[in-house]
Amino acid sequence: MRLDGKKILITAAGQGIGRASAEACAREGAEVIATDINEELLGDLGGERIETARLDVTSADEIAELSARIGQLDGLFNCAGVVHSGSVLDIADSEWERAFDLNVTAMMRLTRTCLPGMIERAEEAGTASILNMSSMASSIKGFTNRAVYGASKAAVIGLTKSIAADFVTKGIRCNALCPGTVDTPSLRERIAKAADPAQAERDFIARQPMGRLASVDDIVPMVVYLLSDESRFVSGQAVLVDGGVTI
Ligand code: NAD
Repeated sequence: MRLDGKKILITAAGQGIGRASAEACAREGAEVIATDINEELLGDLGGERIETARLDVTSADEIAELSARIGQLDGLFNCAGVVHSGSVLDIADSEWERAFDLNVTAMMRLTRTCLPGMIERAEEAGTASILNMSSMASSIKGFTNRAVYGASKAAVIGLTKSIAADFVTKGIRCNALCPGTVDTPSLRERIAKAADPAQAERDFIARQPMGRLASVDDIVPMVVYLLSDESRFVSGQAVLVDGGVTI
């Protein structure tokens, strides 16, 4: 019960890393508010210590409404994000704006809304933790066809370090998580859409030196650690869980 007594909000918890994180945090004793824009995906997630709620992280109104309803938090995992494929020559302004809106601006808005309550919780509990989903791909190590994605996920690291620096004396810790390639529904969609899906899958695996994709179970132990008090001396870090890509 490494998260006993903690109230944690997770975005994009309908599938993939967000969903596995919600389940893992509840198993470790947290009271989890698992949110997603897609309520159908949240359907079978509710259970002991998990409350589900619709949240489109790009909607300022939905953020304000949910935050007022759930009250103060000990943990916030900003997991929602979108992968845009293409080089800088392929980016339409609207795609750039959408990627930054979802991957960065939404994270800033939700954090700005939840932070005052988290500071109050940290005064009582000693610490509260914000975890922001970044990525290894093109924010830490360059990859082809990830221009918008890399730029937005690098911005997440800058936002993370700024929050960490501004609130370190208030008991707030803020870290960014940078996974390698993780086998999730959206990765499967990207593979299926490729001209040669079998080759696309081989290419994703080939860039992982351990010779396999990550599963969500490779990633969630770090999520639990960074949201727990075990990481109480860790803040402002871009934490790589990438199967050795950046060795
Ligand atoms: P996914 O992409 O399969 O699922 C994303 C979830 O986000 C879906 O449930 C979807 O409904 C939800 N979502 C989409 N728009 C939303 C919005 N506006 N508001 C709230 N929820 C919304 O899951 P994943 O692959 O685990 O990715 C989760 C995060 O991890 C993303 O930020 C992604 O960039 C990051 N990431 C993924 C990988 C990977 O290889 N899968 C690697 C590094 C980082």
